[in-house]
Amino acid sequence: MSSDNTAHPPAGLLPKPVLQKETTAGNYFVSNYPPFSAWKTDGIPLFEAALQRPPTPDTPLGIYLHIPFCRKRCHFCYFRVYTDKDASAIRSYIDAALREMELYSGLPFIGGRKPSFVYFGGGTPSYLSVDQLKHLTSGMQRMLPWDEVEEVTFEAEPGTLTDHKLKAIREMGVTRLSLGVENFDDHVLEINGRAHHSKEIGRAYAYAREIGFPQINIDLIAGMVEETEDNWRECVRRTAELSPDSVTIYQMEVPYNTTIYKQMRADGKLNAPVADWDTKRRWVDYAFNELEKHGYTVASAYTAVRNKEKTRFVYRDRLWAGADLLALGVASFGHIGGVHYQNQHDFDPYIAAMQAGQRPVYRALAPTNDEKLIREFILQLKLGQTRLSYYQQKFGVNPLQRFAEPLQTLQQWGMARVDGDYVRINREGLLQVDRLLQEFFLPEHRNTRYA
Ligand code: SF4
Repeated sequence: MSSDNTAHPPAGLLPKPVLQKETTAGNYFVSNYPPFSAWKTDGIPLFEAALQRPPTPDTPLGIYLHIPFCRKRCHFCYFRVYTDKDASAIRSYIDAALREMELYSGLPFIGGRKPSFVYFGGGTPSYLSVDQLKHLTSGMQRMLPWDEVEEVTFEAEPGTLTDHKLKAIREMGVTRLSLGVENFDDHVLEINGRAHHSKEIGRAYAYAREIGFPQINIDLIAGMVEETEDNWRECVRRTAELSPDSVTIYQMEVPYNTTIYKQMRADGKLNAPVADWDTKRRWVDYAFNELEKHGYTVASAYTAVRNKEKTRFVYRDRLWAGADLLALGVASFGHIGGVHYQNQHDFDPYIAAMQAGQRPVYRALAPTNDEKLIREFILQLKLGQTRLSYYQQKFGVNPLQRFAEPLQTLQQWGMARVDGDYVRINREGLLQVDRLLQEFFLPEHRNTRYA
């Protein structure tokens, strides 16, 4: 953070933390707790034991399926994706994912349950052909019917969406179409390795609207390579003009396994060739302000929604409140009966495990009750507010006592306040929330590489 933030804090406030300015390599985004680096193979027996128990009553079940295929690898991408798989490799992958689901659907923890949300993430789920999608979803629904689902989310890359495919996606029951737009400028898209072009965005969006998807989300990234102030403002203007139900904005981070980092290393550079953190926070703030002028409400650190009463994001809200998540596919992260697990993170070991009829789990962790409390508390803080009595009821712990120290720190920085039964984070805090959340981590998890 710039030095003017550390000078002369108002009475009663502490100097704000000195934040890193330049974008260097590493993970910033907090998506789970404890950090993935604490998940180990020796946790797998506890995961297996959880599968043999009945589920906790009233805990919703979700399904996440990772589709690890993309047309091109974006230079900022840190997901497990493949750009070289042909139709027969994709078919074996779909069959392996179905086989994986079958291995779970007969077990006490999963069998007979009806998922309340389904999420197709990637990679690029829309890379699959209509026939592949039909084969996949009809197989999934045969094992765990979707008649009680509240939401089916499907991530799509605009350049892969024909009208025919969009129609099939809608017909298979998708309620929330998430378009990976990222930017509207062809040069910025191209230089960041994106496969789609700007004209494909408007075309896909218009047809998706026409055929009545209940919810369309647009993803943007603040701080792509060669993005400028003018470009960012234009992206926000174009987004508001399309008027999607929700807009999700990420601040560009550069983890170690990205093409951008590999190039930085080859060039001997420590700073990534993208906007610094001050600029990215300012750009997200600008976007939120502009969207608010168009009637949107900021619903989390990353999201603005057009109609707050009607626009829900069931996957996020259930997951952040401790739902069970049956995660399928290569490198997927799930959460079963309070135990975290991750699948094999490479294609061949994943397929081999499935061909041998074994669950393809590679590491797991059974968090303590305190770690579960921290997890829910920090994830729900990303919403900008969280209700204190919820934790008292669920964990039997008063969060004001348990988190007295970090809450005091955030309040003294002027970024949080306790307001009756709520803790609220203000805009300044929300724009850097992932960094603030580390204040709540147990000492052994602080400053760990977040992957
Ligand atoms: S489309 Fe998404 S998953 Fe695929 S390479 Fe780009 S960022 Fe990665």
